[in-house]
Amino acid sequence: MNQGIDFYKTYDVIKISQCHESNGTKTLTPNSRLDRWNAVHEAITSWLINDADDDVAVKVAEQRFQYHDALQKKMMSELFERFRKLLPKPLPEVNIDYFRKEVTKKINDSEVGMYTSFQYELTDNDSIEYIKLKAGVTDVNDIDKAIIAQSKFDDETFYTAQLIKDDLTEIDEPSNSQEIIDEYFKIIEDYETNRKKAEPGLHCYMCERPSKCGQYPVVNGEEVKSKDRGILISKTNLLNLENCERWASWRAQYAIPKDFENDSDEAQLGRRYHDFAQKMLVDNNNIFGPDEPKRLESLLENEEELFKIQILKKYKELIEELDKNISDKDSLDIKLSEYGLGFTITEDGIVANRNMTLRDGRVAVTFMGQADLVGRYEGNPLIIELKTGRESQNDLTEAELYALGAKLLLNADEVTVFHIYTNQDGGKLKPRSFGKDDYDTIIKKFQNKAERIAKWNPADAMSPKFTIGDWCSNCDYQTTCPEYR
Ligand code: SF4
Ligand code: SF4
Repeated sequence: MNQGIDFYKTYDVIKISQCHESNGTKTLTPNSRLDRWNAVHEAITSWLINDADDDVAVKVAEQRFQYHDALQKKMMSELFERFRKLLPKPLPEVNIDYFRKEVTKKINDSEVGMYTSFQYELTDNDSIEYIKLKAGVTDVNDIDKAIIAQSKFDDETFYTAQLIKDDLTEIDEPSNSQEIIDEYFKIIEDYETNRKKAEPGLHCYMCERPSKCGQYPVVNGEEVKSKDRGILISKTNLLNLENCERWASWRAQYAIPKDFENDSDEAQLGRRYHDFAQKMLVDNNNIFGPDEPKRLESLLENEEELFKIQILKKYKELIEELDKNISDKDSLDIKLSEYGLGFTITEDGIVANRNMTLRDGRVAVTFMGQADLVGRYEGNPLIIELKTGRESQNDLTEAELYALGAKLLLNADEVTVFHIYTNQDGGKLKPRSFGKDDYDTIIKKFQNKAERIAKWNPADAMSPKFTIGDWCSNCDYQTTCPEYR
């Protein structure tokens, strides 16, 4: 390793590329996915270096899982078994360490580096194999591949053991490795010389400091500390919470993988309609112009015919509804799409230290959603949500989330939220206006939710209560949930 050089993990550079603010002091945010990965890695390590009979070595290794609940223990045992099938013993000589491949560059008179790491090294007389352990669905990033390509020796080969896919694959080398590395060093240079403010987006769901960065302000102004537990509740989990806490907590706190992904034609149509409507409406001062439908048609030229017809119909209904409900068209100004809005509530609850010992402490619960469109109408903040399903009681909670988030972030009391439905019943716009008298009630409603979330035991996925009901048929865990049979 090069001494005296500031090194960045590639994972951190990717996060910085999304939002400079993401690299700062964090809360104690339990990361179940990483905890499980660590436990599986430790078990593999123990098994690899244990010369006892395999049954004994496996049993000893699995003792690492004993601190987890039954569900997570089962998931870890399965991942461990998959590894043993991918790389059965006997193996060549195994070394267990965090091996690094590095690249360095001089930035502003200082030497800066980036590295990617590997968990296992298998050596025999004339070759070395390095293995990167992956337990999730993500592939190796281009920057990791580029660093390997630029720094490898002839006798070295690099693999990914992607447990969930039962796959041991050689890591391929991009043709433009140097370009990729230069691009990532440029990200570091920008970060070091021109630090930017918070840039919210989907990446906020993977961030460990939403309660500290200012984008999701703390309702009572309390300073969130690094020893507090942080948790982020997405809009979907917020809405599921009232039906079944287990469902919401398995997504938000314990990162239990979904049993299946919904990628129906309807879901795809919904996504495409959102994309095109956002493209049409953001920074457009001619939203109601006569040529706009033609502009949408040309944007849609490469879409499948069925989607094209549906999107054109929905967009026409959306514009008709906006037209009916907006009297001062010149004051409508839509500036952003997919913009993270929300707030943080602090409560007393259970905190897990880094080693997963539990104690009483403060819990910062950040409620956050990606607002479809954000702008101003008559000078006040306006949030627009595009709905392709039917009206639901949840829409009020969603409107309250955005209204309070916008009020706190933009320091404005008057906030308007439009839900625009385009479904089998045609188009409909439901406006909701919020003023300074509304926020106390909204805060109380969310405090009640935060109180319950703060009491979830981060070390036990089976601790949040479950409630069986009609909603189970839409739940992500119909197979995993032992109560739903
Ligand atoms: S929560 Fe989002 S906006 Fe805040 S620091 Fe993290 S990535 Fe940036
Ligand atoms: S299947 Fe039903 S009870 Fe089980 S987690 Fe899902 S919603 Fe809750």
